[in-house]
Amino acid sequence: MDLRSDTVTQPSEEMRKAMAQAPVGDDVYGEDPSIIALEKKVARLLDKEAALLCASGTQSNLCGLLSHCRNGEEYIVGQEYHTYRYEAGGAAVLGGIVPQPLEVKADATLDLELLQRRIKVDDPHFPITRLLAFENTHAGQVIDLSYFQQARQIADRNALAMHLDGARLANAAVASGNTMAELAAPFDSVSLCCSKGLGAPVGSLLAGSHEFISRARRWRKMVGGGMRQAGIIAAAIDYALTHNYQRLAQDHDNARWLVDQLTELSLDHDIQVSATPTNMLYVTLPNQPMAAALQQYMADHDIKIPASQTLRLVTHLDATAEHLNHFVYHWQAFLRQSTYND
Ligand SMILES: *Cc1c(COP(=O)(O)O)cnc(C)c1O
Repeated sequence: MDLRSDTVTQPSEEMRKAMAQAPVGDDVYGEDPSIIALEKKVARLLDKEAALLCASGTQSNLCGLLSHCRNGEEYIVGQEYHTYRYEAGGAAVLGGIVPQPLEVKADATLDLELLQRRIKVDDPHFPITRLLAFENTHAGQVIDLSYFQQARQIADRNALAMHLDGARLANAAVASGNTMAELAAPFDSVSLCCSKGLGAPVGSLLAGSHEFISRARRWRKMVGGGMRQAGIIAAAIDYALTHNYQRLAQDHDNARWLVDQLTELSLDHDIQVSATPTNMLYVTLPNQPMAAALQQYMADHDIKIPASQTLRLVTHLDATAEHLNHFVYHWQAFLRQSTYND
């Protein structure tokens, strides 16, 4: 069992069958029927004109940033957002694009007053502000549609574009009761990961206008993402969107159940457990040696968790109710013999 991330899921037998049977062609020639169909389907799901299959969420976000901004132009983003912190600075390295990171608030948003002050006026001293880059979900938290509608007004007043890193937008949709299209509406472009909770082995899609996606297609080629008979990947993603989307509610329920169980067991142990509305929960242990001991204890029982003092646990389609019971059992056993908080 692996609770470190929802990226660890294995493609099921049925998904592998769909992959094996997929009609394929050379997608660089635009001749892979499975990819053409998937791009249409995702464009429809997000209510955008077009979509583009990318190798990863990092590639999809990168092609998005490169298609919005040229060198010397700027995007405003959260310090903790993936497009600033976790993508190796690709937009700056490859595009000469300047990030303007702002602190992320506890509710996963950026302060819109501050954001407005950071938008630069036209002055030869300054980079040209071009884009606002957001994330939903962020750290398992769901951001309300009304927040993004407010941000959209600011973007419109300042002639800025808006990009959404919707790696886990499907989780946000299931948790909020909005459709993905509704959550995507305030944005010019959206990146959706299919190798997270949706359970495909590979792949993300970037969606936007026809004109935007044709620019992104050229960038994707440049960064090595022009794949050939990748219809086998498209078939896995199509399977995931059909069979694994609505079931994300189960992952959210499982995470809430886990929060309740761990909270009750941890009462006398100076351990904080915090919930999110989606498939992530966070546990803060009293000290780092305890975190290392817990990680080792779980590893000895074939359970993978992080070794950090504040650790993230993530539920997913391969973490069944039985697995989670097993995990709670070992949690209790660990605390019973633990000497770290005596
Ligand atoms: C996982 C993730 C991505 C993309 O990651 P890849 O591993 O490159 O697919 C982007 N943004 C967020 C918020 C993510 O969690």
